[in-house]
Amino acid sequence: MKTNAYAAQNATTPLAPFNIQRRDVGKHDVQIDILYCGVCHSDLHTVRSEWQGTTYPCVPGHEIVGRVAKVGKDVNKFKEGDTVGVGCMVDSCLTCANCEEDLEQFCPDTIFTYNSPDKHLGGITYGGYSESIVVDKAFVLKIPKHLDLAATAPLLCAGITTYSPLRHNKVSKGQKVGVVGLGGLGHMGVKLAKALGAHVVVFTTSPNKVEDAMRLGADEVVNSKHADEMKKHLNSFNFILDTVSAPHDINAYLVLLKRDGNLTQVGVPPAPLSLNVSSLIYGRRSLSGSLIGGIKETQEMLDFCGKHDITADIELIQIQNINEAYDRLVKSDVKYRFVIDMASLQQAIT
Ligand code: NAP
Ligand code: ZN
Repeated sequence: MKTNAYAAQNATTPLAPFNIQRRDVGKHDVQIDILYCGVCHSDLHTVRSEWQGTTYPCVPGHEIVGRVAKVGKDVNKFKEGDTVGVGCMVDSCLTCANCEEDLEQFCPDTIFTYNSPDKHLGGITYGGYSESIVVDKAFVLKIPKHLDLAATAPLLCAGITTYSPLRHNKVSKGQKVGVVGLGGLGHMGVKLAKALGAHVVVFTTSPNKVEDAMRLGADEVVNSKHADEMKKHLNSFNFILDTVSAPHDINAYLVLLKRDGNLTQVGVPPAPLSLNVSSLIYGRRSLSGSLIGGIKETQEMLDFCGKHDITADIELIQIQNINEAYDRLVKSDVKYRFVIDMASLQQAIT
């Protein structure tokens, strides 16, 4: 099936219209007409090959919300017309120990939504900056009915990537939780940590985000460039979630943890970060990483967001403006997630 999309042909030229193939709907498959797709900083890292390993042409996008157009004969859970979501994964082996524990993101054979080997058509997978996608039913999510669809798209990556470590670290009422970086992931982290009952402190490098941080649910906001403001929080956090996409000093945050506190890194700066191990040793603190979340937990997160009326704060863009949106992401100029209105793709190609 010929499908319109937007692709990067290499690491330096702008994304532009491109035609891709989608497979025919197999018996376990769901074909989805894409309505909205969020713009994650991982899209940008991949498109510009900041992590290396990008295969071109690259069609990014893994925060997909759309409508079911067709289902395979063994699909009962979804039917034509349902509103559904697809996040960062479209397949995995479903039988390994990680898959059996609903942690498909750690399966050695996970197929990510874009830039992964495509076992059906050869080549690589193409993501959500496109008019339609065909996905195995096991990787399709149900969207709570009353949520705004465009603002729900970012939950499929930014939402689960922040929800999963908050839950894994048992963030609960009364705990002091830090969120570093107020971008797409960070602002979801604030909303979710608040909904879990935490006292939330945002660390930002952007003074113009202070008011928004409070509106989004933060109890305190710290300008991370001001050492005196940072010092006030020494040894005080149960948990810190670091969402920063660029090189920065994690040691400045590790020392803010209480004894046995944990800092989980979800931001993936292109270059290694340096670690002063003393920050861990004094206080038996720990440093972890976390990768999105499994499908079961993603559905749990969507249902949690449905219950608590949580969606992203978005700026809806036309796909023609995607390159400008990327430039703004690099400048931390996003409030707080760009979402592509996929209806614009039709105009972009005519
Ligand atoms: P984003 O919207 O661009 O937000 C990143 C934020 O980091 C910026 O808004 C900014 O916040 C802060 N920041 C940027 N440059 C900085 C610098 N030089 N020093 C300090 N702070 C800086 O990006 P995102 O979509 O939330 O993604 C964040 C990172 O998470 C990316 O690296 C992405 O690839 C990664 N990611 C990881 C996973 C996972 O599973 N682990 C999933 C999705 C994304 P302030 O303006 O508040 O300082
Ligand atoms: Zn993402």
